[in-house]
Order: sequence, then C-alpha cells, then structure tokens
Amino acid sequence: MRIPEEKIEEVRNAIDIVEYVGRFVKLKKRGKNYLGVCPFHNEKTPSFNVSADKQMYYCFGCHRGGDVIKFVMEWEKLAYPEAIELLAERSGIQIGHTDRDAGESNEIEQLYNACRFAGRYYYANLQHAEGKFALDYFHARGFTDKTITTFGLGYSMRAWEALLAKAKEEGITPDHLAKVGLLRTRDDGSHYDAFRGRTMFPIFSATGKVIAFGARKIYDDDTVPGKYINSPETVIYKKSKVLYGLSQSKEAIRESDAVILVEGYADLISVYQAGVKNIVASSGTALTDEQIKLLARYTKNVIFVYDADSAGSAAMVRGIDLILEQNLDVRIVPLPAGEDPDSYVKANGGDAFRTLVSNAQSFIEFKASTFKREGKFDSPEGRAEAVRALVQTIAKVADPLKQSFFIRDVAEKFKLYESSLYTELEKYSKKVPEKFRAPMPVPVVPSEAPGARMEVSQMQELMTEEKELLNALFEDPETMVHFIFGQIQMDEFISTVGKEVALRIIEAHEHEGRVDARALHAAAKDETIRTTIADCSFNRYQLSAKWDTIGHRSSDTRLYEQALGAIKSLKRRNIDTAIAANRRTMKDAQLQGLDVLSLLQRENELYRQKQVVEEMQLVIEKK
Ligand code: ATP
Ligand code: MN
Repeated sequence: MRIPEEKIEEVRNAIDIVEYVGRFVKLKKRGKNYLGVCPFHNEKTPSFNVSADKQMYYCFGCHRGGDVIKFVMEWEKLAYPEAIELLAERSGIQIGHTDRDAGESNEIEQLYNACRFAGRYYYANLQHAEGKFALDYFHARGFTDKTITTFGLGYSMRAWEALLAKAKEEGITPDHLAKVGLLRTRDDGSHYDAFRGRTMFPIFSATGKVIAFGARKIYDDDTVPGKYINSPETVIYKKSKVLYGLSQSKEAIRESDAVILVEGYADLISVYQAGVKNIVASSGTALTDEQIKLLARYTKNVIFVYDADSAGSAAMVRGIDLILEQNLDVRIVPLPAGEDPDSYVKANGGDAFRTLVSNAQSFIEFKASTFKREGKFDSPEGRAEAVRALVQTIAKVADPLKQSFFIRDVAEKFKLYESSLYTELEKYSKKVPEKFRAPMPVPVVPSEAPGARMEVSQMQELMTEEKELLNALFEDPETMVHFIFGQIQMDEFISTVGKEVALRIIEAHEHEGRVDARALHAAAKDETIRTTIADCSFNRYQLSAKWDTIGHRSSDTRLYEQALGAIKSLKRRNIDTAIAANRRTMKDAQLQGLDVLSLLQRENELYRQKQVVEEMQLVIEKK
C-alpha cells in the first residue's frame, strides 16, 4: 500500500517530536532545544538533541538525525511505510481506510489470531499425558522449562482432529486455521489437523506474532516424510522474509551490534539458552536478500556458524556473496568436523562458543581454506581458479575502500601483485553504486593561486568553520545569507558538501523566501548532505550547559560573531593553503634556476590579504 504524501505530512504534523522522543529518551531543556543521552550509541555525556521548532533530532556523537519518522525507523527498526503506520496508529490517523483494506486487515488479524491460538494450544499439550513424551524429548535435548516458554515450544496430538476440536470449543474459525496451514481440507470440505504427533516450534514475526510452525518428528512410527515439516507459505508467512528467533534475539543483536547466523531451530535454541542471545536461524532454507535486509536493520555484522558438513558450507558460500552485496560485513566460524552449533555448545558451553565466535575468520580466509581442502592449490591452474573466485566475491563488496583492503589480503596471502588483482577485479565489478561515489563532482576552481585550490577542493569532509556558517544560516537565514555572502564567496567553502548545502540554503532563501531545514533534509538524496543538514541545523554551543547561563546576554550578536569568526578562519585557511602552494612552486623554480620575483610578490600579496582578514571586524548594518 502506498501512503499518499499528504497523509505522511498529516502524520508528521500530528506528532510533536519532543513529546514522542521524550517517551524513550530522558530529555532536558537546553536553550531552545532538548538534550538527552543518545539511545542509538553508548555515551555518558548527552549529545542527543531534539528541536521543537525544527521538529528534528540530531546526535553529535553518532551523527544520527532526522524527523520523527526517521526516529521511529531507527528506534523500532522499521521501514519507512511501517514507521508511518505506527505513528498514524498512535495519533489516530487512518491511512488507506477503504472498505476493502479494512476487510483485508481484519482477515489478517484473524489469521494471526488463529496462529496464536494454536501456539498456546500446542504449548499447553506438553502438560497433558500424551504430551509427556514430547516434554521429555525437549528435556533430553537439554532445553529448560524457561527455554521452552521463551520459544513457545509445544506438541501436536496424534489424533486427527485434536486442534480442530479445540478450535471449535474456543470459537476459532477452521477456515482461518486452514489458511495458515494448520488444518487440511478433505474433499468433502471437512477439516483435519495438519501436524500430528510432533514437537512444535512456533515461528514468530520480528514483532513477536506467531505466523507459522516447524514440526519435528519424535516418534519412530511417524511415517510422514521429513524430520521437520514446516507451515506452507501463507498470507502471513513469507519464508524468504522471516528469520527464526529474531523476535527473541533482536535486542541482543542491537546491543552487541552483531548477529550469529545458524541453520537449525535446535541450534538456535541451544546457543541462546547457553547465554549467547544475538542469534537467528535461517531454518534450512538458503539465505535471501530480504532476510539480510531485515538483519541490516539491527546490525551490519553477520557471523555465520554453520554445520561442518558440505551442505552447510555450500549454503554459507552463497550467503557470503549476498551479504557483501548489501554492504554488510561477514565473518565465518568453521565448526570442528561432525559438530553443529547445538552439539558444540552442549559439549563446550556458552563461553567456548563465544570464544569461537570472536575468532571468526574473514570470508577470504574461509574461502581460501575451503579451496585448500578441495585441493585447488595443488596446481597453478587450481590456484588461479581459486584466486579468481576470491576476487569475484570481493567484486560484490560495495564499498571501494573495503574492496581495497580485501585485495591487499589476497595479494599477501597468495604472494601476488595487487595490480594484477585489480585488473581481475575490473572484469567482475559492477559499476560502483551511486551512493559510494564522491557525493558531488569535485570542482577545481583556481581562483587566486593556481594549483592551490586543487588539493583542498578534493576534501569532502565538512570543516568546523563551514559547519558554523551553515548553522548560522539555518538559525537566521534572513540576516545571515546577506551577512555571510556579503563577505565570502561560494568557492571559499572548502568541502564540496559544505558548498552544496550552502547553495541549497541560498536557493531556498531566494526562491521560497524561507529556509526550512526539515524540507531541505527531506529533499536531499545524498546521505552526506542529509547528515550535514541535520547536523548543522542544531547549534551545539547554544545547547551546552554553559551557554544556558550566558545565552541571554549575547543573543543579539551571537550569530554574527559566530559567522564572522568562521569567515575569518576559513579565509585564513584558504590563504595559508595558497601560501604553501606558492612556496612549493618557488622551490621548484629556484631548483630550475628560474626567476622567482613574481612568486615572491605573490607571497607578499597573500600575506597582505591575511592581514586584511585579521582586521575584519563586526559591522552590523541596521535595516
Ligand atoms: P535437530 O537438531 O532437531 O535434528 P536442527 O534444528 O539441528 O534439528 P538440522 O537438521 O540442522 O536441524 O536442519 C536445519 C534446519 O533445516 C532445521 O532446523 C529445519 O528448519 C530445516 N529442516 C531440516 N530438515 C528438514 C526437512 N526435512 N524439511 C524441512 N525443513 C527441514
Ligand atoms: Mn541439530
């Protein structure tokens, strides 16, 4: 469902960011804004700011920032439309409330309801005489009662219509149970239980709703093929989008900023019970892009711990490429032969498992050792093939900087020239994705000293002075645009991002007569630009405790002083760079026996300019 733009705006306007964020973060008023300890990274001194008039937040520590929707996305780990839905719900705004939608969502609620009912029923069965065998089975596997509860484990009775009978008793429509795969339908339209005489592993959505089940064989006379039978795909269960255990483990994943990926339900439960809780299971299916995207909401660090059999390692190899393509980091834990995470943690305990994980291999080490085992290194052809395969995987890495590290790794490992690896890499590299290119074409503007600007203009990172200027511009565009650009030229900005944001402010000021940081933020596509806008639309000096006490008296000229200080400093930097470049030219000229008089004159001129800058004083024109 696409949410119309005006609905989004309605939601945004219905919610006060200070009030909303304040439910999760303790905020104190500081000047115009509110300050608290950042919920997104570990810190002792608060640097998380929320602005009531801009309706934005920004953390000076981890540089996260945005509007209230962005906050919900980060805090609840939701996608954009989901975040809007959540906020809409909280503020009583109906989105997409056509009759059909309402009917659909009602039906979906019923399906969740049916699954929840079944989960409770299977769980309760463990306490019945017939369920004793299943309970003993769990205990024999080392699962504690607490674990059984945490994961909602259960048992389906051997009878053909046990779930069906219970459903009728509780007023659950069989149709709904059939739609989630828990009942099957006979030709005559009557129903019977889909899972019979098996231990039941409920599968939860990330938000903790039961959406499906895995059913494991426990009886020798169970003739249904397959150790596990899983629910079919249904309206509420899309296998490729679900990871087993995520709803129990997401907090631990967020906290540790890493996720361990295993194959089996039992693996996950055993490791979790042993105290290593940042873990999910792919449940025997190959890892999908959607699952990786889901994980990426919580962490960018994925650690594979797959069974030491060849099926396990083949699944890993495919998973590695997918993870790298999505710009996540991946490491691999090879288990001793014959072990799976479940058996390993049972034999060696949680601490040993944790140690294993902290010694995880890079994907290069992992792949190289796999090739070695396969005997690929015994011939030059095999070696070439192995290296080529490694480079192909490196080509999937989206970040060019990381790529270069991995290339260096391979070069060292195989005693090869990096340059030959790069040649190979070129063949496989897709075009570098837009977002990893320099945010802006790098302009080379030799305004005064030829060559001088060349090196500085390469610089992408925002300078402190630029930040102060942009901040002043956001604070009071009406006066600051004239004040600042009356004294400084656009190309005196050093970073491309600083220049770009300044340009956008001027454009907004000229075309719309006002500068709305939130609108500029929303319109910016480039992440660096967005961060810079969020960053600069807050004033950290004003926010500091010290400023709180002296703020009132300097408010008249504060912005002017801030801007002038930054202008002077920026000019100084530019001149210093020009002087340094001029010196180098002079040295070269001297070495070649050329006349340096004009260069000396230029140096004098630059020093004179520097003097002029030092003498710049605050003149506030009264309008
Ligand atoms: P256990 O330890 O209970 O034998 P496990 O959870 O360790 O099982 P594996 O045999 O390692 O499972 O298989 C990994 C996962 O693959 C299982 O957890 C299950 O999700 C899935 N799986 C295994 N066998 C089947 C099957 N026959 N049909 C469908 N899925 C299966
Ligand atoms: Mn197992």
